[in-house]
Amino acid sequence: MTSVRVAVRVRPLNKREKQLSSKVIIHMKEKTTTIQKPTVRGDELKGAGKTFSYDFSYDSFDRRSPTFASQEKIFRDLGFEVLKAGFEGYNACVIAYGQTGSGKSYTMMGPSVRSSINLHDKGLIPRICEGLFWEISHRSKSDAVMFHTEVSYLEICNERVQDLLKKRASPTDDGGLSVREHPRHGPYVENLSKHLVQSYSEVEGLIILGNAKRTTASRGVNDFSKRSHAIFTIMFTQVWCDAEPLYETVSKIHLVDLAGSEKVDPTRTVGGRLKESADINKSLVTLGHVISALADLGAGVSTTKQIFIPYRDSVLTWLLKDSLGGNSKTTMIATISPADVNYMETLNTLRFASQAKNIVNSPTVNDNGSMKVMRELQSEVTRLNQLLKEATQVGHEVPLSSVDVKEELNETKSLQAVALTKNRSSTWRETLNILQEETVTLRKEGSGVVLDCCLPHLIGVGEDLQSTGIALYYLKEGRTIIGKASCTQDIVLHGPGLLSVHCVLENIAGTVTLFPQDGALCLVNGSVVTDPCQLTQGAIIQLGKGATLWFNQPTASQLRLKYQSGLPSVFSPSVTDSSNSTENLSKAMVQNRWYKDAIKLTALVADECKPGLAKILTSAGSATNVN
Ligand code: ADP
Ligand code: MG
Repeated sequence: MTSVRVAVRVRPLNKREKQLSSKVIIHMKEKTTTIQKPTVRGDELKGAGKTFSYDFSYDSFDRRSPTFASQEKIFRDLGFEVLKAGFEGYNACVIAYGQTGSGKSYTMMGPSVRSSINLHDKGLIPRICEGLFWEISHRSKSDAVMFHTEVSYLEICNERVQDLLKKRASPTDDGGLSVREHPRHGPYVENLSKHLVQSYSEVEGLIILGNAKRTTASRGVNDFSKRSHAIFTIMFTQVWCDAEPLYETVSKIHLVDLAGSEKVDPTRTVGGRLKESADINKSLVTLGHVISALADLGAGVSTTKQIFIPYRDSVLTWLLKDSLGGNSKTTMIATISPADVNYMETLNTLRFASQAKNIVNSPTVNDNGSMKVMRELQSEVTRLNQLLKEATQVGHEVPLSSVDVKEELNETKSLQAVALTKNRSSTWRETLNILQEETVTLRKEGSGVVLDCCLPHLIGVGEDLQSTGIALYYLKEGRTIIGKASCTQDIVLHGPGLLSVHCVLENIAGTVTLFPQDGALCLVNGSVVTDPCQLTQGAIIQLGKGATLWFNQPTASQLRLKYQSGLPSVFSPSVTDSSNSTENLSKAMVQNRWYKDAIKLTALVADECKPGLAKILTSAGSATNVN
């Protein structure tokens, strides 16, 4: 458990503040920051002001001051910790928060030069990348470690995610990407480009490219990053290749430059931009709610009531879920103006930062730890086998009797089996989670495995000949959009002749209708359909020239039969069935039955130790893949 580290940084007065003859109301001493309330007439500052204490208070007001905090100093305090966390296998995150013009982008990236990075004053992101490659080149010389580094750079504007490192496919492509959730790795942006980088100069090129692409619509001063949140992510993998099986750590480093935190001025939001402002607020307002809820949690405000953290309410908080209250070593840097004209906004920022100090994260090393144990046990087995061999050789002197060695060998092997089972059971727990969430159950029938789904669903047939898995797409109540990869569809298919939105399937109380989109080739049972078409059990649907799906619609009577015959359940509380027969079953009974099925299947996997079966099910979007 570690608290979020919080730093506050004050910048010099800017031109406008100087022109307004602004008074300096921020004073820093060691870790504390004091703000004084300006008087109404603006001449005298009265009172001691409010004092806040943080992990760091950076005074960057005057370069000539002995306490001046340079970009280098901030990197040494905050950036080093990020690098240390990365090399130890932890996730890390730095979030810059503050009103527009307070110095967020300056701190994260450096002075706003779009075509290059200012070498002298560069910010945390370029310095962290530079430090990463410096350390990699250093470690590569001595350790038997391989490094793999990928970066991505995205922007959230108007609650839409844009890839800052990818060109748009066509002028009509709006480039918006969807956020999805992986059962193991959590929320992620689908189709976000990831770039393998092997040197700092390669990263630098990508940073310059991304910065140039950040949304720039002319909206008053400091447009570059006023309205959008930018997340630069480094995915850093280390593999120790000196023994079998390999030991690896994977860490994700998010470096976040938020949009301006100031309250939106309604007089400046006209037409289309009104929505944008509302959405920007949505991300920041949700961030505020998340931080406040996490701070309550960290401070132990409520011991009886469970505190709900509204991560899902905005794209920003959803993507930063791990960084806020989760598996990450997180730092927040709150940037402020020194001038009296910004008193209210600065006070808000200081309060916000103060609250963030109470957030408690639980970082863990992201390694394949069980693999390490396995590796050690494996080398022990090899050593004991060798001893046994020597002991049985006639006339050879051995340190132990062969009976002792055999016993030791058996013991080590059983330890190895325990480690293997642990490894497998954690994989299996994940599988169970998917089964529970995704309204599907698995059961063994004869020598086969049967996957039951209580909702109407599609099964991919010959969609991809190279694929060794089977995709099952269940159709929730309402509309499901099918098409080739872009941003809006719920089911993504591959194959020639597919449109982005190829067709829509509508499930109303278990009756499913296919709505072909204009110009989309759709065949049902071999006949081309251009009008809405109700699907019947077993229908074969061909979309475009390759993708083929089989429609399956479990009926209420089938479900009832399964219960009566004692076969495993296929129930989900969310199922909507017109006859409502399943609703009469008690939820407790069904859950109990489901649990028993799961236990049976777990035993089966453990008994037969089939690695293929233990690897069952990875889920992307609404697809459940059985490998
Ligand atoms: P934000 O990203 O918070 O909107 P910027 O980082 O773009 O603000 O800063 C606004 C202006 O102030 C920029 O011209 C920037 O160079 C300058 N600035 C910000 N922080 C500092 C600092 N610590 N030292 C010198 N100039 C700064
Ligand atoms: Mg900015």
